[in-house]
Amino acid sequence: MKVPGLLIRVDDLGRIAIPVELHRKIGICDRDEVEVMLEKDTITLRKPRPSCVFCGTEEGLLAYSKRSYCVYCIGELIE
Ligand SMILES: [Zn+2]
Repeated sequence: MKVPGLLIRVDDLGRIAIPVELHRKIGICDRDEVEVMLEKDTITLRKPRPSCVFCGTEEGLLAYSKRSYCVYCIGELIE
């Protein structure tokens, strides 16, 4: 989703406030964590997605003790 024409001013402490309407649209609630990524001159903010703690993939995950592991890495551990 791209919202053209939205300008947000950086405050005196260097913070940038994202309007609540935008984070509600992607399911971010008060006190949630968000993932912030930087690529060249673009900052992307998103709701964190579960990923394998070893390789980072987001597919084929199994959860154990509040962490996620992919089936490939689990297979590697078993061998
Ligand atoms: Zn993995």
